[in-house]
Amino acid sequence: MRTIYLPRVNKWFAMTAYNYLCQMLDYLVVGLGLAGVTFCETLKRNGKTFKVFDDASQQASKVAGGMYNPVILKRFTKTWNATEQLAEMLPFYKELEQRLGEVFTEELKVVRRFASVEEQNDWFTAADKSALQPFLSTEIHANKNQYIAANFGFGEVLGTGKIDCAKLMSGYKKELQKNGLLVSETFNFDSLQLGSNHIGYKGLSARQIVFSEGYGMQKNPYFNYLPLTGTKGEYLIVRAPELKETKAVKASIFCIPEGNDLYRIGATYKWKDKKNDPTESAKAELIEKLNAFVTCDYEVIDQLAGIRPTVTDRRPLVGRHPKHKNMYVLNGFGSRGVMIGPWASRQLADYIENGEPLNTEMDIARFTTKYFQG
Ligand SMILES: Cc1cc2nc3c(=O)[nH]c(=O)nc-3n(C[C@H](O)[C@H](O)[C@H](O)COP(=O)(O)OP(=O)(O)OC[C@H]3O[C@@H](n4cnc5c(N)ncnc54)[C@H](O)[C@@H]3O)c2cc1C
Repeated sequence: MRTIYLPRVNKWFAMTAYNYLCQMLDYLVVGLGLAGVTFCETLKRNGKTFKVFDDASQQASKVAGGMYNPVILKRFTKTWNATEQLAEMLPFYKELEQRLGEVFTEELKVVRRFASVEEQNDWFTAADKSALQPFLSTEIHANKNQYIAANFGFGEVLGTGKIDCAKLMSGYKKELQKNGLLVSETFNFDSLQLGSNHIGYKGLSARQIVFSEGYGMQKNPYFNYLPLTGTKGEYLIVRAPELKETKAVKASIFCIPEGNDLYRIGATYKWKDKKNDPTESAKAELIEKLNAFVTCDYEVIDQLAGIRPTVTDRRPLVGRHPKHKNMYVLNGFGSRGVMIGPWASRQLADYIENGEPLNTEMDIARFTTKYFQG
């Protein structure tokens, strides 16, 4: 009797038929903030299929000021990996603008108000350091705005700008909705099935799942061992017709021009309150700080609040789950989501698809011991 051997062909055929019948996607993504948007866009550019779940429970990306600024203006130090992140960021957002047919990148000069001669000296000392040379102007700008108190002038940060995050979020969401790629509901962990080569969820199958839930990760049973602390931030939106300032001015807080005589004032940093509601105490704090350097009349017309996904060691949380090999996290962007998003998303996609190494400082492998110790 003749034996017919078909194991390889059969296996491939069975997998293809299974993928077709189950509509096997490459990815499920949970969370559509800056992390989710930059990751989905990276997937799209790499020809991958995906579906996203979002329940609008967090709003850091919707309320973010959207500034990118490679310098920490309190200490005059460069932000983590600023040069690499800046190099990828603008081309990424510009390409997205073209595809969506909307403009959300804005030029924005950022200046630091000096409170004393000592601060001017500290600025020059910092500007002398090779890492900061490309980002700190060595000129002191005299104050020309009669409604800003700045006797010691300003230092200008170079390489800054702004992404209109609310516009980016709503434009991206619309595109996903149009293509049936967004499920507007809370991801239910009880419905998640973990297979050896695929993820099942409510009739969907995918090869991988990526969680990008911002502070919402606290409720994720697979990743809540990670030290995501969360820092609440609030802004006031004020109308100040006389101010006529075109630069973002950093004093003890930022005053960011938004157009039409509107300015975004803030933000606060609070570690205990984890609710997304605006508070009276933040309003009072911001008004007090604003009054210390803006002298014209203004009217508060809105207040916004959100929780930044901050991490104890101030590095993002990116990588593969210690036990489940098809499960990943993209989180911990802190107060720098605009700059970190495209860079970290590209790294995560390269890591999953091509086995390229992740930046070790953001790889969640640094917390693996914590996972196994419970
Ligand atoms: C006041 C303030 C000002 C800021 N200003 C700036 C700035 O000027 N520049 C800058 O770069 N960054 C700024 N940031 C930081 C920036 O907002 C964050 O780094 C960034 O938005 C984080 O994005 P994310 O996608 O990780 O989280 P989020 O924006 O919180 O998005 C997470 C998403 O996941 C969804 N989600 C969570 N759990 C679930 C679930 N179980 N099921 C379904 N969906 C879920 C949430 O609804 C949300 O849409 C600011 C933040 C705040 C609060």
